[in-house]
Amino acid sequence: MSSRTGGLLFIVSAPSGAGKTTLVEHLVQILPNLRMSRSYTSRPARPGERDGVDYHFVTREQFQQMIERGEFLEWADVFGNFYGTSARDTARLMTDGQDVVMVIDVQGARQVKAHGMDHTSIFVLPPSFEVLERRLRGRSVDTEEQMQRRLATARAEASAFRDYDYVVVNDQLEPTVVRLQEIIAAERSRTHRMRAIGDEIIKSFRP
Ligand code: 5GP
Repeated sequence: MSSRTGGLLFIVSAPSGAGKTTLVEHLVQILPNLRMSRSYTSRPARPGERDGVDYHFVTREQFQQMIERGEFLEWADVFGNFYGTSARDTARLMTDGQDVVMVIDVQGARQVKAHGMDHTSIFVLPPSFEVLERRLRGRSVDTEEQMQRRLATARAEASAFRDYDYVVVNDQLEPTVVRLQEIIAAERSRTHRMRAIGDEIIKSFRP
């Protein structure tokens, strides 16, 4: 039976503190053929973060050189640090039918859209601003100034959910992971993506 060859691209965005990284980490553990792309960043590693696992940590100079060489599929300046997705890494992951999920901010999502790349975008909203603030303060190593910046960015960017294909509200981890799984299953089952498999099955229907 033939199967899809190129993988699908999913984008997940959310305000900082909405829990998107935890959600997507659970998702890739559950779903075969779904990989999370690993971003490059110029921000210093936080305690417990590992280079090549959480991010590829690079200097601002290295990041700028990568921009100049056109190596990024998308990149953005978020809270004063650079973040970006390598075009080559993503293309490599998507060969052989692997689906890729990118956890990126709204600026990056707009760039992928502008490239005209086929993708499915999902926005994760917290149940309310109060819940978001509580979660952010709970996990925070930020100064109050950094916290205020994150909250201001969340206020400015949350309404971008309207530009995404799907929206999920992260009230509880497990049901939200299930919701994301359902979205991915639905996208994988779209007729144009199943055509080769369907055609193959239909051959067996011939008398
Ligand atoms: P953090 O520093 O908390 O890990 O991430 C801060 C923000 O950067 C989050 O909103 C996250 O989604 C975003 N981000 C992480 N990697 C990328 C990336 O490769 N590209 C873009 N555009 N944003 C990213």
